[in-house]
Amino acid sequence: MFADFKAQPADKILELMQLFRDDPRQGKIDLGVGVYRNAEGVTPVMRAVKSAEQRLWSEQETKAYTGLLGDPAYATAMCGLVLGDAVSQDSIAAAATPGGTGAVRQGFEMVRYGNPDVRVFVSDPTWPNHISILNYLGIETVTYRYFDANTGGVDFPGMLADLEQARPGDVILLHGCCHNPTGANLTLPQWHEVIEVMRKTGALPMIDLAYQGFGDGLDEDAAPTRAVAAALPECLIAASCSKNFGIYRERAGLLITVSQDASNTPLARDTLAFLNRQNYSFPPDHGARVVTMILDDPALRDDWQAELEATRLSMLDLRHQLAAELQKLSGSDRFAFLGQHRGMFSRLGATPDQVKALREKHGVYMVGDSRMNIAGLNAKTVPLLAKAIIDTGI
Ligand code: PMP
Repeated sequence: MFADFKAQPADKILELMQLFRDDPRQGKIDLGVGVYRNAEGVTPVMRAVKSAEQRLWSEQETKAYTGLLGDPAYATAMCGLVLGDAVSQDSIAAAATPGGTGAVRQGFEMVRYGNPDVRVFVSDPTWPNHISILNYLGIETVTYRYFDANTGGVDFPGMLADLEQARPGDVILLHGCCHNPTGANLTLPQWHEVIEVMRKTGALPMIDLAYQGFGDGLDEDAAPTRAVAAALPECLIAASCSKNFGIYRERAGLLITVSQDASNTPLARDTLAFLNRQNYSFPPDHGARVVTMILDDPALRDDWQAELEATRLSMLDLRHQLAAELQKLSGSDRFAFLGQHRGMFSRLGATPDQVKALREKHGVYMVGDSRMNIAGLNAKTVPLLAKAIIDTGI
């Protein structure tokens, strides 16, 4: 059997990482992989995470199984972080999952379980893993227009027109904040227009929230998700703790269902537990427990928020530095969108040949669709990147 497997294409980002490692040039710049790095190029363990882990190590007395939905205290703490008081407690059910990817996967499993003919609408472009998992599960995807290459912003009229084609039983997948890979986001008034389209069509929203706190702040980044959850009869939210707690490898995520008709909540909860059981039974606990300890302890929470805010502001500062440098070198505002984007990523809008030239001539590594990880920059490399971009004729 093993000889008959269909070989999968190599992962483009992993390939890029290998090319970067093999490049002997001193001044090479890695803007590829989607992990936050500080000015020293390190992905640090956050202070509050270290403290919580130390406490956990000394105080934890058992590693016996938790429930199928994970520790209820984790769901409560995370639902508070994501939803605030936007919806009533009895409308919420949630399951811990292995990372945000686990939440996305279980969300797709859930909508297919509810409607075997479900179509999932995805933005063009979206995080490639969305498409890959949907294809793997045999779920039909429909793309909706999203990125406007001419402005570097959102093609909002195109997006609305495409979403209007949805039918009841369809699912609209939306990035809650910090769109990956483009960095272009809707304004809150635009979110309200999207909500009205979803209300009209009867499609179910599913929000992927992987970067809360990386854009405009914890509450600001959750505001669209809260607005959707409060306005529509049902929604699904896949949250990740990988980025905002810096616990990528611990695999902490949460899949949340919100149902305005609270009588549906127990069945939603049982279904979440059933789906966890079918895939991996009990979800991982270590990262989830660390997150709960931080969110439930005022001192740890304050420290975590302060560090997260510093992280967010450092990325924002790099964006503004890059936009300013490019304005200086190009003598135009055509790169101003980089300062308006939010989160870790920005799509530069370069052609594949230009991306190749940036790599080969200038040692600048970005994903083929010209997604740049802004966190891969620092004050020294910003001017080098700007110069490389202009030299390449972008
Ligand atoms: N959704 C999006 C849009 C992402 O970019 C990511 C991380 N790359 C995830 C979900 C999931 O992240 P993780 O599984 O590492 O928590």
